[in-house]
Amino acid sequence: MVKAKIAVNGYGTIGKRVADAIQAQDDIEVIGVSKTRPNYEAAIAHQLGYDIYAPAANLGAFEKAGIPAIGTIEEMVEKADLVVDCTPGGVGESNKSVYEKAGVKAIWQGGESHSLAGFSFNAACNYEQALGRDLVRVVSCNTTALCRVISPIDKELGVKNVRVVLVRRAADPNDAKKGPINAIVPDPIKLPSHHGPDVKSVLPQINITSAALKIPTTLMHVHTVNMEINTDCTAEDVKNILDSQSRIFFVGQGISSTAEIMEFARDIGRPRNDMWENCIWPESITVHEKELYFFQAVHQESIVVPENIDAIRAMMELESDAAKSIEKTNKAIGL
Ligand code: NAD
Repeated sequence: MVKAKIAVNGYGTIGKRVADAIQAQDDIEVIGVSKTRPNYEAAIAHQLGYDIYAPAANLGAFEKAGIPAIGTIEEMVEKADLVVDCTPGGVGESNKSVYEKAGVKAIWQGGESHSLAGFSFNAACNYEQALGRDLVRVVSCNTTALCRVISPIDKELGVKNVRVVLVRRAADPNDAKKGPINAIVPDPIKLPSHHGPDVKSVLPQINITSAALKIPTTLMHVHTVNMEINTDCTAEDVKNILDSQSRIFFVGQGISSTAEIMEFARDIGRPRNDMWENCIWPESITVHEKELYFFQAVHQESIVVPENIDAIRAMMELESDAAKSIEKTNKAIGL
């Protein structure tokens, strides 16, 4: 099978994971990754066999460091059918003209605005609408997690409104620049936070507000989700709906914190401790007079990775059926 050629622009927290997940598939392949500096991540990318590209002005630094960069980012983009832009939030926007000039399809991440691509993606919610598209934004870790739970409950029971409190990790584990810290920070102080309303970029019919707090942890986010639903139901009904979704995982067996979820991921041999699923505590699922409550934990570094793979498959029209793509992606990465 001829594989679709994918470039990963920005090989950081999300980019390195997306690259590995692409390589695990049989219908798409990485033709290059970009690094701005010749650091340890660039050295590992080279060891893993990825062709590295860099900004023209930095090629000399790579040569000096003994890490081969085989061309410029523009040259990498020219060779690709599709670019997954994993540069830091706000940077991706400036790459749009490069992608347009090369005539390649592009995916941006949740750090960019909806208007940049004009279409925000979640595989379980709107895969079919992404078929053949040139520009797509894969929504953020928090929005992905919320879409995955709101959409099936809305389909089965009808959702009147959603209120979410997000307790957010302050920085990713490798981000020494943002620490050390010792505070709880309402972020933003002005309410609602953007996180809940961003769900409307995928599910415009959902009424949703949110508040977010940053805390001194790097491991995961935790959401307290509250939904007012239209249909009388029990906690068991909600559990059955959520349990039918392949990217939702019920945590149990004494796991009472994000620390233990990460240890669980290590113990089951997940690459980089990744938990691609929403991690929901089933005992927390409570329904009282059509009000549903539960806790879910979100591994911010990895939850969007399988969504990027499905977005690629839809945009390249390699599979027209959402469920089949989701299953194929899951199987290939070991989810
Ligand atoms: P990151 O800082 O870990 O990685 C970004 C990479 O891009 C770095 O390797 C950096 O060197 C490189 N880079 C910077 N400027 C570049 C440029 N001009 N051209 C090419 N490469 C450049 O960032 P991240 O956490 O992986 O975030 C990437 C995107 O994913 C953002 O939109 C972010 O909002 C989104 N996202 C992040 C998380 C998370 O928790 N880390 C979760 C979901 C979505």
